[in-house]
Amino acid sequence: MYDVIIIGGGPAGLTAGLYTSRGKLKSLIIEKGLTGGLVTTTEWIENYPGFEEGIMGAELAQKMEQQAKKFGLEILSGSVTSISISEKIKKVKLESGEEYETKSIILTSGAHPRKLKVEGEDQFRGKGVSYCATCDGAFFKGERIAVVGGGDSAIQEAIFLTKFAERVYVIHRRDQLRAEKILQERAFSNPKIEIVWDSVVEKIDGDDNIKSVHVRNVKTEKKSLIDVQGVFIYIGYTPNTEFLAGLANLDGDNFIITDENMSTSSPGIFAAGDVRRKLTKQIATAVGDGATAGVAAEKYIEENF
Ligand code: NAP
Repeated sequence: MYDVIIIGGGPAGLTAGLYTSRGKLKSLIIEKGLTGGLVTTTEWIENYPGFEEGIMGAELAQKMEQQAKKFGLEILSGSVTSISISEKIKKVKLESGEEYETKSIILTSGAHPRKLKVEGEDQFRGKGVSYCATCDGAFFKGERIAVVGGGDSAIQEAIFLTKFAERVYVIHRRDQLRAEKILQERAFSNPKIEIVWDSVVEKIDGDDNIKSVHVRNVKTEKKSLIDVQGVFIYIGYTPNTEFLAGLANLDGDNFIITDENMSTSSPGIFAAGDVRRKLTKQIATAVGDGATAGVAAEKYIEENF
């Protein structure tokens, strides 16, 4: 029996695990992909305190993992399919059929990229359509790329992609970016970036590879073709909460609702990081959430077992 099972091994989960294992609770992280989560797909991070020159996402994730493991945190690779509760004991079931018992759970399962849902997106996925510039950017040396979206992710990754691409078109549905000002300034002053304002992508076209995107200006209704070989989609994220099946209250977009102590509507089940409803999704805020959830889980166990 574990004291704490943490579902998801991104910054929130690794921090929760650091706190609970350091607090001598028997702690397990279950992670279905790479430990570090979305951080591992971020090339360069410059707004996480303590690294004044910035740090590579993969390196930060590795450091967090090593630090938590030092205190005894266990990490298991697997995909959680369901959680059940009998009395106060929670059972976490994996796709493999394995089942683990625990006194408390911290949900840090994060979120995955939202799909654009246009013709060609699925057809060219892995053949020019990507949701990860760090993973796929280098395939587009000297080529032309479209980035869809106007938030921090789209602009940060558009800037990163100019390392490889000859031209990067940021296609945004409004006439103002959502991204933070410092990123906007960098994008505006980058000669390789062109912002295609007030526009939506209607189709991704090509034969074996992408040749163009069909774009519609939402103000003028004018349609145009932009020749590109790659399309990177950054239009927000969908929380990984499908396995919860009603166990915790969610908002309209399926993010978990918590109180300020990261408690969900289910006693002994906490949530932290990108999977929970909150103002901003940053590594720094995920880490704060994770620490709070770890301490809250410890307190819950003290009071209930
Ligand atoms: P986001 O902030 O939700 O922005 C999504 C962008 O995509 C918005 O510009 C939105 O347009 C656009 N969009 C949404 N649905 C669309 C659709 N169907 N078609 C076309 N465009 C669509 O998502 P994000 O940029 O991935 O950021 C997610 C969170 O991570 C945010 O809290 C962000 O601050 C954080 N983040 C931070 C950093 C950093 O600190 N450097 C880096 C990456 C992410 P509208 O603007 O018109 O809504």
